[in-house]
Amino acid sequence: MTGVTVVDHPLLARHLSVLRDHATPSGEFRRRMSEAAMLIGFEALRDLRVEAVDVETPLETATGARLADDIVVIAILRAGLGMVEGFLALMPEARVGHLGMYRDEKELSPVGYYESIPDHGPDAEIVLVDPMLATGGSAASALHRLKERGARRLRFVSLVAAPEGLDAVREAHPDVPVFCAAIDRRLDERGYIRPGLGDAGDRLYGTD
Ligand code: URA
Repeated sequence: MTGVTVVDHPLLARHLSVLRDHATPSGEFRRRMSEAAMLIGFEALRDLRVEAVDVETPLETATGARLADDIVVIAILRAGLGMVEGFLALMPEARVGHLGMYRDEKELSPVGYYESIPDHGPDAEIVLVDPMLATGGSAASALHRLKERGARRLRFVSLVAAPEGLDAVREAHPDVPVFCAAIDRRLDERGYIRPGLGDAGDRLYGTD
């Protein structure tokens, strides 16, 4: 699918399979999700712009690199929180925003209930994260909101994607590249990704 990258790496595949395992306890699930986010982030951020800087080594001056653009990681609440630490481990200089969304059961559409997004210029790199791309409703709506607020350089990173969610996001936002670790079979009647890993928020935080 154009614009969709399935990151293929043995270490990421191993993390994903521990995340899928119903017997993985919350603490281990959180740790694995954070590390999976780091592995997928490494690939998803491959084209970040850098600028040259001089660095004084103990022996002489070397040419180094620093990130050229402001980076903002936006977590869709609540499961997106599970990916934030992994991204911050890669980019301690990144700032973090949060978007909360629930599904209006009558309209069957996502409604924003919380928004905290750092101010940024048009060149900022905005990385929207949510481990589960299910119907795509929240992701498409979050991307729409971020564009309304002036984001121009966006990417969306998930771990497990349903084909239905990928289609919805790509149709609404063909300009936004999408990264994931796996494309699963389908959504079930309750909106769960199959085979998936269950409710990522519940598994992260021990609620169910
Ligand atoms: N959200 C989840 O956490 N899991 C799914 O399978 C679908 C949406």
